[in-house]
Amino acid sequence: MDLYLTEQQTDNQRLSVRVTKTLHHEKTDFQDLVIVETPQWGRLLALDGFFQTNEVDEFVYHEMGAHVPLFTHPDPKRVLVVGGGDGGMVREVVKHPGVEHVDLVEIDGRVIETSKQYFPDIAVALTGNPKVHIHVADGIKWVAEHEAEYDVIIIDSSEPVGPGEGLFTPEFYANVFKALTGDGLMVAQTESPWSNAAVIKRAFGGISKSFPITRLYTCAVPTYPTGLWSFTLGSKKHDPVDADVAERFGDMKTRYYTPGMHFGALQLPRFIQQMTEEAAR
Ligand code: SAM
Repeated sequence: MDLYLTEQQTDNQRLSVRVTKTLHHEKTDFQDLVIVETPQWGRLLALDGFFQTNEVDEFVYHEMGAHVPLFTHPDPKRVLVVGGGDGGMVREVVKHPGVEHVDLVEIDGRVIETSKQYFPDIAVALTGNPKVHIHVADGIKWVAEHEAEYDVIIIDSSEPVGPGEGLFTPEFYANVFKALTGDGLMVAQTESPWSNAAVIKRAFGGISKSFPITRLYTCAVPTYPTGLWSFTLGSKKHDPVDADVAERFGDMKTRYYTPGMHFGALQLPRFIQQMTEEAAR
Protein backbone atom coordinates (compact mmCIF):
# COMPACT_ATOMS: atom_id res chain seq x y z
CA MET A 1 0.00 0.00 0.00
CA ASP A 2 1.26 3.50 -0.84
CA LEU A 3 2.15 5.67 2.14
CA TYR A 4 1.63 9.44 1.95
CA LEU A 5 2.61 12.29 4.27
CA THR A 6 -0.08 14.96 4.26
CA GLU A 7 0.08 18.60 5.27
CA GLN A 8 -3.24 20.22 6.09
CA GLN A 9 -2.33 23.48 4.36
CA THR A 10 -5.58 25.31 4.96
CA ASP A 11 -8.95 24.29 6.44
CA ASN A 12 -9.96 23.17 2.96
CA GLN A 13 -6.78 22.06 1.23
CA ARG A 14 -4.13 19.38 1.75
CA LEU A 15 -0.85 18.47 0.06
CA SER A 16 0.13 14.78 0.10
CA VAL A 17 3.52 13.45 -0.92
CA ARG A 18 4.30 9.78 -1.40
CA VAL A 19 6.75 8.43 1.13
CA THR A 20 9.09 5.53 0.45
CA LYS A 21 10.70 5.50 3.91
CA THR A 22 10.36 7.19 7.28
CA LEU A 23 13.92 8.05 8.22
CA HIS A 24 13.28 9.65 11.60
CA HIS A 25 10.34 10.51 13.85
CA GLU A 26 10.42 11.96 17.35
CA LYS A 27 8.61 14.30 19.69
CA THR A 28 11.19 16.90 20.68
CA ASP A 29 10.66 19.23 23.64
CA PHE A 30 9.05 21.67 21.22
CA GLN A 31 7.43 19.84 18.33
CA ASP A 32 6.74 16.69 16.36
CA LEU A 33 9.70 16.16 14.01
CA VAL A 34 9.55 13.80 11.04
CA ILE A 35 11.99 13.22 8.20
CA VAL A 36 10.87 11.09 5.27
CA GLU A 37 12.24 9.95 1.93
CA THR A 38 9.99 10.92 -1.00
CA PRO A 39 10.32 10.21 -4.74
CA GLN A 40 9.11 13.73 -5.63
CA TRP A 41 11.03 15.97 -3.26
CA GLY A 42 13.85 13.82 -1.93
CA ARG A 43 14.23 13.96 1.84
CA LEU A 44 11.63 16.16 3.50
CA LEU A 45 11.44 17.63 7.03
CA ALA A 46 8.07 18.34 8.66
CA LEU A 47 7.49 19.99 12.04
CA ASP A 48 4.09 19.58 13.68
CA GLY A 49 2.81 18.41 10.31
CA PHE A 50 4.02 21.49 8.38
CA PHE A 51 6.49 20.84 5.57
CA GLN A 52 9.60 22.87 6.37
CA THR A 53 12.21 21.95 3.84
CA ASN A 54 13.15 19.31 1.30
CA GLU A 55 16.13 18.50 -0.87
CA VAL A 56 14.57 19.56 -4.17
CA ASP A 57 12.99 23.03 -3.75
CA GLU A 58 14.81 24.29 -0.62
CA PHE A 59 17.17 26.49 -2.62
CA VAL A 60 14.38 28.87 -3.62
CA TYR A 61 13.39 29.81 -0.08
CA HIS A 62 16.91 29.91 1.32
CA GLU A 63 18.44 31.96 -1.49
CA MET A 64 15.61 34.49 -1.47
CA GLY A 65 15.60 34.71 2.34
CA ALA A 66 19.33 35.41 2.50
CA HIS A 67 20.44 37.24 -0.65
CA VAL A 68 17.75 39.91 -0.93
CA PRO A 69 18.64 41.40 2.50
CA LEU A 70 22.38 40.75 2.22
CA PHE A 71 22.65 42.45 -1.16
CA THR A 72 20.43 45.30 0.05
CA HIS A 73 22.84 46.10 2.91
CA PRO A 74 25.99 47.63 1.35
CA ASP A 75 28.44 45.93 3.73
CA PRO A 76 26.91 43.24 5.98
CA LYS A 77 29.40 41.89 8.52
CA ARG A 78 27.34 40.58 11.43
CA VAL A 79 24.25 38.51 10.72
CA LEU A 80 21.67 36.84 12.98
CA VAL A 81 19.45 34.00 11.78
CA VAL A 82 16.50 33.27 14.09
CA GLY A 83 15.07 29.74 13.65
CA GLY A 84 16.50 28.12 10.54
CA GLY A 85 17.90 25.07 12.35
CA ASP A 86 18.11 23.13 9.09
CA GLY A 87 21.04 25.40 8.16
CA GLY A 88 19.93 26.37 4.64
CA MET A 89 19.77 30.09 5.38
CA VAL A 90 23.21 30.07 7.02
CA ARG A 91 24.64 28.20 4.01
CA GLU A 92 23.54 31.10 1.80
CA VAL A 93 24.65 33.83 4.24
CA VAL A 94 28.25 32.58 4.31
CA LYS A 95 28.46 32.85 0.52
CA HIS A 96 28.91 36.60 1.13
CA PRO A 97 32.65 37.08 1.57
CA GLY A 98 32.27 40.24 3.71
CA VAL A 99 30.23 38.46 6.38
CA GLU A 100 32.46 37.92 9.41
CA HIS A 101 30.12 36.54 12.07
CA VAL A 102 26.82 34.63 11.89
CA ASP A 103 24.75 33.73 14.96
CA LEU A 104 22.16 31.01 14.40
CA VAL A 105 19.58 30.99 17.22
CA GLU A 106 17.32 27.96 16.97
CA ILE A 107 15.02 26.96 19.83
CA ASP A 108 15.06 23.23 19.06
CA GLY A 109 18.49 21.58 19.10
CA ARG A 110 17.00 18.41 17.64
CA VAL A 111 16.21 20.23 14.37
CA ILE A 112 19.91 21.14 14.10
CA GLU A 113 21.19 17.64 14.94
CA THR A 114 18.80 15.74 12.69
CA SER A 115 19.39 18.19 9.82
CA LYS A 116 23.15 17.62 10.08
CA GLN A 117 22.50 13.88 9.93
CA TYR A 118 19.85 13.69 7.18
CA PHE A 119 20.35 16.91 5.16
CA PRO A 120 24.15 17.28 4.87
CA ASP A 121 23.91 19.51 1.81
CA ILE A 122 21.48 21.91 3.49
CA ALA A 123 23.24 21.89 6.88
CA VAL A 124 26.72 22.09 5.33
CA ALA A 125 27.67 25.39 7.01
CA LEU A 126 26.64 24.22 10.50
CA THR A 127 29.82 22.18 10.94
CA GLY A 128 33.40 23.45 10.92
CA ASN A 129 32.77 27.01 9.71
CA PRO A 130 34.56 29.42 12.08
CA LYS A 131 32.22 32.30 11.14
CA VAL A 132 29.11 30.37 12.25
CA HIS A 133 28.08 30.34 15.91
CA ILE A 134 25.19 28.08 16.88
CA HIS A 135 23.00 28.81 19.90
CA VAL A 136 20.14 26.61 21.04
CA ALA A 137 17.92 29.32 22.51
CA ASP A 138 14.67 31.21 22.12
CA GLY A 139 15.10 33.82 19.39
CA ILE A 140 12.57 36.13 21.05
CA LYS A 141 14.66 36.34 24.21
CA TRP A 142 17.93 36.52 22.26
CA VAL A 143 16.78 39.50 20.23
CA ALA A 144 15.46 41.30 23.33
CA GLU A 145 18.87 40.94 24.99
CA HIS A 146 20.97 42.39 22.13
CA GLU A 147 21.37 45.99 21.06
CA ALA A 148 22.90 47.59 17.93
CA GLU A 149 24.72 44.37 17.17
CA TYR A 150 23.66 43.04 13.76
CA ASP A 151 23.71 44.47 10.24
CA VAL A 152 21.14 41.94 9.04
CA ILE A 153 18.63 39.79 10.95
CA ILE A 154 16.82 36.96 9.13
CA ILE A 155 13.73 35.48 10.76
CA ASP A 156 13.56 31.94 9.36
CA SER A 157 10.69 30.83 11.52
CA SER A 158 8.20 28.03 11.40
CA GLU A 159 4.46 28.82 11.21
CA PRO A 160 2.96 31.41 13.58
CA VAL A 161 1.70 28.68 15.92
CA GLY A 162 3.64 26.94 18.71
CA PRO A 163 7.19 28.21 19.41
CA GLY A 164 7.16 30.46 16.31
CA GLU A 165 4.08 32.48 17.33
CA GLY A 166 5.95 35.24 19.16
CA LEU A 167 8.15 35.84 16.10
CA PHE A 168 5.27 37.59 14.32
CA THR A 169 4.40 40.30 16.87
CA PRO A 170 5.01 44.09 16.74
CA GLU A 171 6.89 43.83 20.08
CA PHE A 172 9.30 41.34 18.54
CA TYR A 173 9.89 43.53 15.48
CA ALA A 174 10.54 46.52 17.76
CA ASN A 175 13.23 44.50 19.55
CA VAL A 176 14.67 43.43 16.19
CA PHE A 177 14.94 47.14 15.32
CA LYS A 178 16.93 47.73 18.53
CA ALA A 179 19.19 44.73 17.92
CA LEU A 180 20.20 46.12 14.51
CA THR A 181 23.00 48.62 13.83
CA GLY A 182 22.17 52.17 12.69
CA ASP A 183 21.69 51.16 9.05
CA GLY A 184 20.61 47.57 9.72
CA LEU A 185 17.77 45.67 8.15
CA MET A 186 15.67 42.58 8.76
CA VAL A 187 13.70 40.08 6.75
CA ALA A 188 11.04 37.62 7.94
CA GLN A 189 9.32 34.78 6.15
CA THR A 190 5.67 35.82 6.08
CA GLU A 191 3.77 32.90 4.54
CA SER A 192 1.46 32.79 1.51
CA PRO A 193 -0.52 35.73 0.09
CA TRP A 194 -3.28 33.28 -0.94
CA SER A 195 -3.77 31.34 2.27
CA ASN A 196 -2.22 33.58 4.94
CA ALA A 197 -3.25 37.12 4.04
CA ALA A 198 -3.95 37.81 7.71
CA VAL A 199 -0.41 36.77 8.69
CA ILE A 200 1.07 38.99 6.00
CA LYS A 201 -1.01 41.97 7.07
CA ARG A 202 -0.09 41.46 10.72
CA ALA A 203 3.62 41.07 9.94
CA PHE A 204 3.78 43.90 7.40
CA GLY A 205 1.81 46.19 9.72
CA GLY A 206 4.02 45.27 12.69
CA ILE A 207 7.28 45.74 10.78
CA SER A 208 6.21 49.06 9.28
CA LYS A 209 5.45 50.37 12.80
CA SER A 210 9.17 50.10 13.59
CA PHE A 211 10.93 50.47 10.24
CA PRO A 212 10.76 53.47 7.87
CA ILE A 213 11.22 51.19 4.82
CA THR A 214 9.05 48.04 4.56
CA ARG A 215 8.93 45.91 1.42
CA LEU A 216 7.26 42.62 0.62
CA TYR A 217 8.65 40.27 -1.99
CA THR A 218 7.64 36.84 -3.24
CA CYS A 219 9.09 33.62 -4.59
CA ALA A 220 7.70 30.32 -5.88
CA VAL A 221 8.08 27.37 -3.48
CA PRO A 222 6.00 24.44 -4.74
CA THR A 223 5.80 22.54 -1.42
CA TYR A 224 4.63 25.53 0.64
CA PRO A 225 0.88 26.22 0.84
CA THR A 226 -0.35 27.57 -2.55
CA GLY A 227 3.20 27.62 -3.96
CA LEU A 228 3.53 31.39 -3.67
CA TRP A 229 5.58 32.53 -0.68
CA SER A 230 6.38 35.92 0.81
CA PHE A 231 9.14 37.61 2.77
CA THR A 232 8.79 41.01 4.42
CA LEU A 233 11.86 43.23 4.72
CA GLY A 234 12.16 46.08 7.20
CA SER A 235 15.04 48.51 6.84
CA LYS A 236 16.33 51.56 8.70
CA LYS A 237 18.07 53.10 5.69
CA HIS A 238 18.72 50.90 2.67
CA ASP A 239 15.89 50.19 0.26
CA PRO A 240 16.04 46.87 -1.65
CA VAL A 241 14.76 48.60 -4.81
CA ASP A 242 17.94 50.72 -4.86
CA ALA A 243 20.35 47.88 -4.07
CA ASP A 244 23.62 47.76 -5.95
CA VAL A 245 23.42 44.05 -6.72
CA ALA A 246 24.98 43.46 -10.12
CA GLU A 247 28.58 44.32 -9.28
CA ARG A 248 28.73 42.44 -6.00
CA PHE A 249 26.87 39.38 -7.31
CA GLY A 250 29.85 38.43 -9.50
CA ASP A 251 29.96 34.68 -9.99
CA MET A 252 28.17 33.69 -6.77
CA LYS A 253 26.73 30.18 -7.18
CA THR A 254 22.93 30.34 -6.93
CA ARG A 255 20.04 28.51 -8.60
CA TYR A 256 17.13 30.95 -8.12
CA TYR A 257 18.47 34.31 -6.97
CA THR A 258 20.00 36.59 -9.62
CA PRO A 259 20.19 40.39 -9.73
CA GLY A 260 17.14 40.25 -12.02
CA MET A 261 15.20 38.08 -9.56
CA HIS A 262 16.08 40.50 -6.76
CA PHE A 263 14.20 43.34 -8.43
CA GLY A 264 11.57 41.13 -10.09
CA ALA A 265 10.53 39.62 -6.74
CA LEU A 266 9.83 43.10 -5.38
CA GLN A 267 7.30 43.79 -8.14
CA LEU A 268 3.95 42.84 -6.64
CA PRO A 269 0.68 41.80 -8.26
CA ARG A 270 -1.94 44.40 -7.46
CA PHE A 271 -3.88 42.27 -4.93
CA ILE A 272 -0.72 41.78 -2.86
CA GLN A 273 0.25 45.42 -3.23
CA GLN A 274 -3.17 46.32 -1.82
CA MET A 275 -2.61 43.95 1.11
CA THR A 276 0.57 45.81 2.05
CA GLU A 277 -1.10 49.21 1.67
CA GLU A 278 -3.94 48.16 3.97
CA ALA A 279 -1.48 46.72 6.47
CA ALA A 280 0.62 49.88 6.59
CA ARG A 281 -2.38 52.15 7.33
N1 SAM B 1 11.69 27.19 5.87
C1 SAM B 1 10.77 26.96 6.89
C2 SAM B 1 9.34 27.28 6.60
O1 SAM B 1 8.98 28.42 6.30
O2 SAM B 1 8.54 26.36 6.67
C3 SAM B 1 11.28 27.33 8.20
C4 SAM B 1 12.42 26.42 8.53
S1 SAM B 1 13.16 26.36 10.05
C5 SAM B 1 13.22 24.62 10.25
C6 SAM B 1 12.05 27.01 11.27
C7 SAM B 1 12.63 26.83 12.67
O3 SAM B 1 12.20 27.87 13.53
C8 SAM B 1 12.23 25.52 13.35
O4 SAM B 1 13.33 24.65 13.41
C9 SAM B 1 11.77 25.96 14.76
O5 SAM B 1 12.22 25.11 15.79
C10 SAM B 1 12.39 27.36 14.84
N2 SAM B 1 11.74 28.24 15.83
C11 SAM B 1 10.42 28.37 16.06
N3 SAM B 1 10.22 29.26 17.06
C12 SAM B 1 11.44 29.72 17.42
C13 SAM B 1 11.90 30.65 18.40
N4 SAM B 1 11.03 31.29 19.21
N5 SAM B 1 13.23 30.87 18.52
C14 SAM B 1 14.12 30.22 17.72
N6 SAM B 1 13.75 29.32 16.79
C15 SAM B 1 12.43 29.06 16.64
